[in-house]
Amino acid sequence: MSDCIFCKIIEKKIPAKVIYEDEHAVVFEDINPQAPVHTLIIPRKHIPTLLDIGEEDHALMGHLIKVAGTIARSKGIAERGFRVVANCNHESGQTVYHIHLHLLGGRPMHWPPG
Ligand code: AMP
Ligand code: ZN
Repeated sequence: MSDCIFCKIIEKKIPAKVIYEDEHAVVFEDINPQAPVHTLIIPRKHIPTLLDIGEEDHALMGHLIKVAGTIARSKGIAERGFRVVANCNHESGQTVYHIHLHLLGGRPMHWPPG
């Protein structure tokens, strides 16, 4: 999508610290990290929100979660623990309408989240 900032990162039209890429997913460092580890896992496919996931996207979503675990291991936070968050629509705090998983870790996490 032409006006989507995450599509532009995928297309390398704007810079990002990309740490992993495969056929279906791209992972990069969050520009405003909320924890020592804060990366974003996104599909190459432009899907605006969790509500827009179709039947054909089920394998893709599973893949994104699997990638989150792979990145957690590579960042050395898998055993300590980490959090995967997906915000949906405005009350959750979603600001970029291209679905993404936040991978957060490297410090104790609080519950319930704010
Ligand atoms: P959300 O609020 O769940 O939609 O998350 C969007 C995230 O994208 C926020 O944590 C932002 O800090 C992050 N973000 C926005 N623009 C960029 C960018 N150009 N590069 C990296 N992360 C970004
Ligand atoms: Zn997009």
